[in-house]
Parts: sequence; C-alpha cells; structure tokens
Amino acid sequence: MQHASPGTRPLAGRRAAVTGSTSGIGLAIAEGLARAGADVALNGFGDTAPALSAVGAHGTKVVFVGADLSKGPDSQKWVADVTQALGGLDILVNNAGIQHVAAVEEFPDDKWDAILAINLSSNFHTMKAAIPAMKAQNWGRIINIASAHGLVASPFKSAYVAAKHGVLGLSKAAALELAETLVTVNTVCPGFVDTPLVRGQIADQAKVRGMSEERVINEVILASQPTHRFITSEQVAEMVLFLSSDAASGITGASFSIDGGWTAR
Ligand code: NAD
Repeated sequence: MQHASPGTRPLAGRRAAVTGSTSGIGLAIAEGLARAGADVALNGFGDTAPALSAVGAHGTKVVFVGADLSKGPDSQKWVADVTQALGGLDILVNNAGIQHVAAVEEFPDDKWDAILAINLSSNFHTMKAAIPAMKAQNWGRIINIASAHGLVASPFKSAYVAAKHGVLGLSKAAALELAETLVTVNTVCPGFVDTPLVRGQIADQAKVRGMSEERVINEVILASQPTHRFITSEQVAEMVLFLSSDAASGITGASFSIDGGWTAR
C-alpha cells in the first residue's frame, strides 16, 4: 500500500469511494478527498458529468460507478466494482440518503422502507463488503454521514431519525469489532446544510405545517441551530478529511457533531 510522504498531498495514494456524491455533501466530500490527493469513486443519481468534472479537476483518478444502493446485493457489488476500478479501497464514505416528512400515522410504508434501505441498510451492506480487504491490508477508514438526527429527534421525521440513530449504533459495533486493526469507523453528524435534500424538506415542512417556505427556514430549520446559520458542505468535508488522515488513527467508534450548537442544548 502507498503512504503519503512529506511534500505530497496528505491523502496521496489513498483510494476513496463516496456514496451519493453527485450532489450536496457527498460531492463536497469527494472534491475534498481528491484535493487532498486521493483517487475517488463517485456514485449517485442524476447527471454525473458536473461531479466528474469538479472532482476530476484536482488531477487524481476519478471514476463514476453507478448503483442503486438501496438494494443490498447492488451495494455489495458496488464495493467490488469500485475496488476493481481504483485498484483497492482505503476510505469508504457512506453518504447517500433521502428524507420524507410526515406524521407517523400518515407515514407511507414504502417511504419508511426506502429511507431505512438507503440511509441505514446500505451502510451495512457496503461495510460488510469493504471490511475484509481493509482488514487484510490493515488500514481503512469508514466514515458514515449520519445527522444531528442520529442523536436527537424532530417531529415528522420518524424514519430518518430511526435510520440515523441506527447508523450510529452500526458504526460503534463495527468500530469495536475492528478496534485492534488500523481500520477505524466513525460518524459525522451535521446539522442543517443547504443542499437539494434540505430544499425538498423545506417545501414538505411548509405543506405539513401550513407555513411559507421562508417561515420554515427561519422558524423551523434554523431555529434548531443556535448559530442560526446553515452548516456548509465544505465544513462536513473537512471533518471527513481529518478522519481519513493518519493523525486520526486513535479515533474510532466516535461521532462528530457539526451542528451549530443544536445538540448542545
Ligand atoms: P442530496 O440530496 O444533495 O444528495 C444525496 C445523494 O444521495 C445524491 O447524490 C443522490 O443521488 C444520492 N442517492 C440517493 N438515493 C440513492 C440510492 N438509492 N443509491 C445511490 N445514491 C443515492 O443530499 P445531502 O443533503 O447532500 O445529503 C447527504 C447525506 O447527508 C445524507 O445521508 C443526509 O441524510 C445527510 N445529512 C444531510 C443534512 C442536510 O442538512 N443537508 C444534514 C445532516 C445529514
């Protein structure tokens, strides 16, 4: 395995895969990893060209490996495909996720299943597929993007809150299993980040609560965060870069809040 040497970019020689990296936070993480010198595999729905061009601008190898990661066998095959495309896998970032906002008694069964599948079960399936090779090379970083909703709840988000709490539990269990190796497993718990996912939520919350979108932003979304400012995707990416570094080798089974003080109260 290659290691960064003085004068090179900190993640030079590392091979990273980021789920849901065609948009929002995942795209910023993929860009950050490439800027730090890693080769990167992208994934997600929608137009792939802008992501390939933004992440590819940093001069490392960048590939797109499509898959619907809400399907277990497809998630496991995706790991095999990215490992083949990059010649190995050192850093796995589980970021793909969706949201649906409704009261429990009105929550559509299919939305519950879909949210659990992509926000929680896909993390299990990709980890299950990636861990054997990481153990064999005795180096790996698994970073799961949970949410402030992995630590606390909000009304109308039962499936999302259940899935994100599950991501923290899954990550802690895997971290303990891998503790004697140099494979670490951690979670990042962002507050509200202004991405397409949150824009969709603002519209949904406006409907559920009978409020204007502007009132939802100020009185519901940013009201949760004492800073009253959105977190940026780049701030989340910086935490992922640190957790990917050798300096973070003593950190495992931990969760990192980037939530403007939300969970401090
Ligand atoms: P986004 O909608 O901008 O991006 C989500 C990405 O996941 C897209 O690339 C999408 O194509 C991909 N995706 C969705 N379903 C998929 C599937 N079945 N298979 C493969 N890819 C799929 O959302 P975002 O806000 O950037 O969210 C990214 C992650 O961050 C999610 O896990 C979300 O829960 C989490 N998060 C977001 C916020 C926020 O405020 N935006 C806060 C905390 C946590």
